[in-house]
Amino acid sequence: MSITQAQVLNALSYVDDPDLGKDLVTLKMVDNIRIDGKKVHFRLILTTPACPLKEQIKNACITAIQHLVDKEAEVIVEMSSRVTSKRTDGGNVLPNVKNIIVVASGKGGVGKSTIAVNLAVGLAKTGAKVGLIDADIYGPSIPLMLDLQGQRPQVTQVNGTTKIVPIEKYGVKTLSIGFLADPKQAIVWRGPMVSSALRQFVTDTAWGDLDYMVLDLPPGTGDVHLTLVQTVPVTAAIVVTTPQAVAKADVVKAIGMFNMPQINVPILGIVENMSYFTPPELPNKKYYLFGKNGGQQIADEFKVPLIAQIPIVEQVREGGDSGQPAVLKTGTLIAQAFDQLVQSTAQHVAMRNANIAPTKVVTMQ
Ligand code: ADP
Repeated sequence: MSITQAQVLNALSYVDDPDLGKDLVTLKMVDNIRIDGKKVHFRLILTTPACPLKEQIKNACITAIQHLVDKEAEVIVEMSSRVTSKRTDGGNVLPNVKNIIVVASGKGGVGKSTIAVNLAVGLAKTGAKVGLIDADIYGPSIPLMLDLQGQRPQVTQVNGTTKIVPIEKYGVKTLSIGFLADPKQAIVWRGPMVSSALRQFVTDTAWGDLDYMVLDLPPGTGDVHLTLVQTVPVTAAIVVTTPQAVAKADVVKAIGMFNMPQINVPILGIVENMSYFTPPELPNKKYYLFGKNGGQQIADEFKVPLIAQIPIVEQVREGGDSGQPAVLKTGTLIAQAFDQLVQSTAQHVAMRNANIAPTKVVTMQ
């Protein structure tokens, strides 16, 4: 008896995407089924190229076909991805950007920009199309962290209008307040200037198609945050903290802002940075220099996931200062920690898109 498409689809309807809790056929994650004797070929379309469950889902597909259809079937799974989006705003602003993720923190110095940069570069490393906006006027550090100091973006004409062209590095398209002003001067910009620069980054820039736009916000809460939520439909916010209590008090305020009913941006989760230190000569030891589990406590308190814990590693600072993000140092423990951050973020964006209504652009009366 030869294998049929219907049998293959039936078998795959017993395989669930563990994150989304539905089967692959219902989720339309299977197409291009071809059968040649005992050879079964199909394409599996994941919700993100950064999916950490790739191998697990693929193996479950093979097992299902061999158990339910033919134990001698030779199953070839072609892996592909189509990043999901929950945008229904009609898309005047960033029309071809699927997901807009803001990276926030309660206070400065906790590693917010470091997380934003490594997240963006790490997502691009998986094959996703990524943009990064540095809106941190108090320390526009992205030009330094991507080795783009002194660069000035060009402009181009798109359908008769002038657009800024983002600068591309490590596969990430980026713009920073630091490209427009000396980073030391940006801090004296008045609120309206910052808001207008940010609006231009969002509305007057040729971003093209993006799966993820990452926005590095200034620490705390303020004008820039309000401008942003009034300009773009933010998919979700990541809040970065260090484990100590003082960082926690500030972080509560930052989370509170996104949770305000009139703002209502979903919190994707907490990233705990500088979680522990492991001396190179004692790879099994973890020293919790700033206390233990602060990130987990805050995540539990607000019922949001702890997305990742990033250790204190010299290579992170070195990578930041030399413009070579640590996520690119393949094979190191810190690159693995950042890869986990990237996968977990992409996974939570896919779950957010499957489970929560789109975010609306905030209108202030
Ligand atoms: P923020 O954006 O919150 O002000 P930054 O990302 O600029 O913070 O980080 C502040 C400093 O701490 C930078 O010098 C950065 O390289 C360093 N840093 C951040 N995270 C780590 C880490 N996990 N390990 C070591 N150094 C870090």
